[in-house]
Amino acid sequence: MRTTISKQFRWEMGHRLPFHNGLCKNIHGHSYEAHVILSGEPDAQGMVMDYFDMKLLIQKKIDELDHAFLCDTSDTVVRSFLEAHSMKTVLVAFPTTAENIARMLLEHVISQLPVGHRVDAVRVRVFETEKTYAEVESVL
Ligand SMILES: [Zn+2]
Repeated sequence: MRTTISKQFRWEMGHRLPFHNGLCKNIHGHSYEAHVILSGEPDAQGMVMDYFDMKLLIQKKIDELDHAFLCDTSDTVVRSFLEAHSMKTVLVAFPTTAENIARMLLEHVISQLPVGHRVDAVRVRVFETEKTYAEVESVL
């Protein structure tokens, strides 16, 4: 029977949305949470994927983001400050919305799937707050 499994990850990260008309244009941070959600037919042992192996799909990326500032390359004001003071920074070529962070993580998870995996769909849900999340899905 096609089955869906999920694992949660948490990290702290700074960002801002320079184009935003409200509070999000300011430098601020979130306690982010991501749910990695995999669907597929379980193997003979009853697993879509071992939860330990799910961690391997994304933990290095989470560690890279943790306590970093996620900076859009076009945000030259903040970028030059971060570089001048050697702050932990992850540069990306997109606005740092939850939607775009979810897409970045989804693409990373798909790139890390091991040979012979049983996954037929990947979803990533990124919570910026307890009440708000963005979710993206790719059917393989
Ligand atoms: Zn924010």
